[in-house]
Amino acid sequence: MTKEEQFWSRFLELAQLQLKDSAYDFFVADSKLVKVDGDTATIYLDGNYKELFWETNLKNALITAGFEIYNTDLKFHFVFEDLPNSHHKDSRNSSLNSSSSSATEPLPKIETGLKAKYTFDNFVQGDGNIWAKAAALAVSENLATTYNPLFIYGGPGLGKTHLLNAIGNQILENIPNARVKYVPAETFINEFLEHLRLGEMKTFKNTYRSLDLLLIDDIQSLGGKKVTTQEEFFNTFNALHSDNKQIVLTSDRSPDHLDSLEERLVTRFKWGLTQNITPPDFETRIAILRNKSEDLDYIFPNDTLEYLAGQFDSNVRDLEGALNDISLMAKVKKLKEITIDVAAEAIRARKNDNTQMLVIPIEKIQDAVGAFYGVSVKEMKGSRRVQNIVLARQVAMYLSREMTDNSLPRIGKEFGGKDHTTVIHAYEKIKSMVETDDNLRLEIQSIKKKLN
Ligand code: ADP
Ligand code: MG
Repeated sequence: MTKEEQFWSRFLELAQLQLKDSAYDFFVADSKLVKVDGDTATIYLDGNYKELFWETNLKNALITAGFEIYNTDLKFHFVFEDLPNSHHKDSRNSSLNSSSSSATEPLPKIETGLKAKYTFDNFVQGDGNIWAKAAALAVSENLATTYNPLFIYGGPGLGKTHLLNAIGNQILENIPNARVKYVPAETFINEFLEHLRLGEMKTFKNTYRSLDLLLIDDIQSLGGKKVTTQEEFFNTFNALHSDNKQIVLTSDRSPDHLDSLEERLVTRFKWGLTQNITPPDFETRIAILRNKSEDLDYIFPNDTLEYLAGQFDSNVRDLEGALNDISLMAKVKKLKEITIDVAAEAIRARKNDNTQMLVIPIEKIQDAVGAFYGVSVKEMKGSRRVQNIVLARQVAMYLSREMTDNSLPRIGKEFGGKDHTTVIHAYEKIKSMVETDDNLRLEIQSIKKKLN
């Protein structure tokens, strides 16, 4: 071993002792000693942003190794451009350069699979997603030290894929060289099978096991797959996790309900942190609509946003779809401002598609509710605020909303020309009462039975 080699291997040893594997791999593994000339060592780093890390964390290890081998207080100089073996040969100390560069095999290129449009900035926070978002942010500030794995689950269209991409995009913004990959579990499986078929498992393994951050979407789709496929995922998971690499998973259900997955896999999912996303409440739906409608060329008055937020209440994807329908219609009709009527017309088809409801006329609901509470339909359509009339009116509005696909303005109209906000209010009120009031729930059930 030359003195340079002794010095460098002693330094690497010290750095390895001092750093976590993940930091070592990221900041040190790709560095090289270019030369030691007099009392100055020149070191190559594969990114100039890494210099600060070396200055603050590795100076002591360098000085110690320098002292041990050269008996002197070495100075250090960092260079960043890549040093290919050939055309720099004459200007640089070449023998060491070429020998050390052949020692580190280049890492395979990564297709990140990320969608740039999904960021933390455009993810609207609400009651239902606040903790999932906080965990995702924490992970993107501190890879593999906070929660590993992070497991996010929730129903369709609630922003799981969005958050997963946001983490990846944020990491790449902070650490441009980080090795990040987003992949739906289904794609992971297909890639695995394809590489297996072509006898290229080594490439597959090298790619996945070289990652700093693996983002796996819709892990539930691993369920029901062959044991060998689950096995490969299991191995990849273990390799990354034991190497302190960050893993984030999403699923449409909690780990406890991933019945068709191997138990040992599920156990591992629960090693880190599990966060749930629940559907957005009314206010959050409005905030999401406002946020998304700002990107459109049309004016959305508040009452239109409120109306839309009342029409789609479990899924952000539907809200977005509604905005798309509206934009299309506004474009065709050359409208600037989106009134409730325009919105109602634009989304009619979508509502019909999504809901296979019985066609129950609102009148029939009014009759049934009226008969049950001893209130006439005329009173229901009026505006007297006597307790039993108010209750009957609100229950009838609630059922009209729940059991028919009429728009809120339409329902309002059928109740003596009331505003759609009155209908929303009635609906939300009865909906929350039903959750706690057993009597009311039974009453509504028996009215429904008569209607079906
Ligand atoms: P999931 O993966 O949970 O099925 P997605 O992440 O694909 O849902 O979300 C569906 C759509 O709704 C995406 O276009 C996404 O940007 C949007 N979305 C979901 N939640 C939010 C939110 N809180 N703020 C902004 N957009 C959201
Ligand atoms: Mg998704």
